[in-house]
Amino acid sequence: MAVSLPISTLNATPQTREASLATSWCAERLAGVYEAAAPTMAIAVTASRHAEVVEVHAHVQGKFRCACSRCAEPVELTVDTEFDHHFVGPGQLDAGDEFDAEAADLDADPDVSEHDGANILLDELCIEHTILALPDVPLCNEDCKGLCPRCGINRNTETCTCDLSEERSSPWAKLAELRVQKN
Ligand SMILES: [Zn+2]
Ligand SMILES: [Zn+2]
Repeated sequence: MAVSLPISTLNATPQTREASLATSWCAERLAGVYEAAAPTMAIAVTASRHAEVVEVHAHVQGKFRCACSRCAEPVELTVDTEFDHHFVGPGQLDAGDEFDAEAADLDADPDVSEHDGANILLDELCIEHTILALPDVPLCNEDCKGLCPRCGINRNTETCTCDLSEERSSPWAKLAELRVQKN
């Protein structure tokens, strides 16, 4: 299961193909924060080729599961992301002064890489873009109230009578104390 396009089958007319990628390949990179909620991610790739240059547009959809960063309740997240990438022929990116200005521009662009002359391999790019599309701080809900820092109840579903005013003000209170001491 890999997303690979044989270059010889591509031409100037954009063609769309569907492929899939194991969701676990992404989840493994995410240090146990996310796990796969569906076995595979669906990939749709539209590619066209002009001489050695291949233009790719990919659409990736996958499902992941994780714990809410505030309340630890399970969250299911759908990733739906798209990216464009250009591939140039082997050795073209570091061809140096033999290459024209347009190629020099390509060199600086992170969305350009070299293909091996035989196949366009998209696994790594699909994984990278999926990881980028996942939130750093996953939440069950934007307004998640999290757990009570005192008693640990889930404040989205329960109410407690803990007095949190002290906890909330303490960093500032300490700062104020320090200021007083300084004077
Ligand atoms: Zn939450
Ligand atoms: Zn509480």
